[in-house]
Amino acid sequence: METQIRKLDYDAIDMDVIEEAGRVLKEGGLVAFPTETVYGLGGDALNPASSEKIYRAKGRPSDNPLIVHISRKEDVYRIASQVSKEAQRLMEVFWPGPLTLIFPKKALVPDKTTGGLPTVAVRMPSDRIAAAFIQAAGGFVSAPSANASGRPSTTTAAHVAEDLKGRIEMILDGGQAVIGLESTIVDVSEDRPVILRPGVITRGMLEEVVGPVETDQAVIAPDSAVKPKAPGMKYRHYAPRAALTIVEGKPEAVIAAVNQWTAQAEAEGKRVGIIATDETAACYKGGLVKSLGARSREEEISMHLFEVLRSFDDTDVNCIYSESFGEAAIGQAIMNRLLKAAGHRVVEVPGSK
Ligand code: AMP
Ligand code: MG
Repeated sequence: METQIRKLDYDAIDMDVIEEAGRVLKEGGLVAFPTETVYGLGGDALNPASSEKIYRAKGRPSDNPLIVHISRKEDVYRIASQVSKEAQRLMEVFWPGPLTLIFPKKALVPDKTTGGLPTVAVRMPSDRIAAAFIQAAGGFVSAPSANASGRPSTTTAAHVAEDLKGRIEMILDGGQAVIGLESTIVDVSEDRPVILRPGVITRGMLEEVVGPVETDQAVIAPDSAVKPKAPGMKYRHYAPRAALTIVEGKPEAVIAAVNQWTAQAEAEGKRVGIIATDETAACYKGGLVKSLGARSREEEISMHLFEVLRSFDDTDVNCIYSESFGEAAIGQAIMNRLLKAAGHRVVEVPGSK
């Protein structure tokens, strides 16, 4: 299949292209589209055959449910059988935006879309191309991240093409996704809200609106033995092809250790990748160093994380070392993705903490 790639301009969104993309979905095809978090791979959420196509195009296990994207808040009542007071407050404050809520589902939502679960994940993106496209497609677009299963999520149309060209009908190109990490997922189907996946909307921000919020143990567990409530969180994810190790400790100790390991590896003829920050990048003496941005500006780190992980696949590095990030604010979301990319391989250097 030939994949059409259509560039769109936020200042003058070409509605003919949006209508065309909407028609593709209504006819059962797939369209990748930009959102403020990452690119999504969209299909008609109410058509089970479209959901099957999404799983096939991504090579994704079919027990891993899709998020249903809407463009009008009130549409949540058409697919959710129960919307709690807490959920309503969260929708008022954070929608449209990078927050996915889990509700008990109505029968209208096919089991294929929810991976057989009795609940449905719903998000209303703030991205204007996404909103126009969802509307043109009939209002309910199921979309996981637009990457091949296991690879880092995509933050540009070029990354989507790398993974999915020839497998989907169309890619809407809206430039670089500004947040760069997937949405925060909160389960509001039971009494107390529970965070199933951290994102840029943090626990503190949620608690200001609805009071106490819990975090699924699997999000913060130091290993991958704890079974997560969001099925997708159990899979190894985001992994670059070269083995990634996270190095924890005081910055000076991390730099010294990585420099030593790099020198050793290079003496053995191996190539080393290093994931650094603007504050430290110049301190590494060898290896292929890539900075995520300034540590003092977490939103830069989150915006560049997947791009940097992915970019190592175009190099010949044999292994990658990454600096670690604090767990405050967006740091927890960044570490959650890095730990998955590293298959939970973490080394603590002496003299740390
Ligand atoms: P992705 O769109 O690729 O970020 O994947 C969607 C994420 O949402 C995966 O981690 C899913 O497991 C999670 N998810 C979707 N629907 C549900 C649901 N009904 N209950 C729990 N987690 C869900
Ligand atoms: Mg994903």
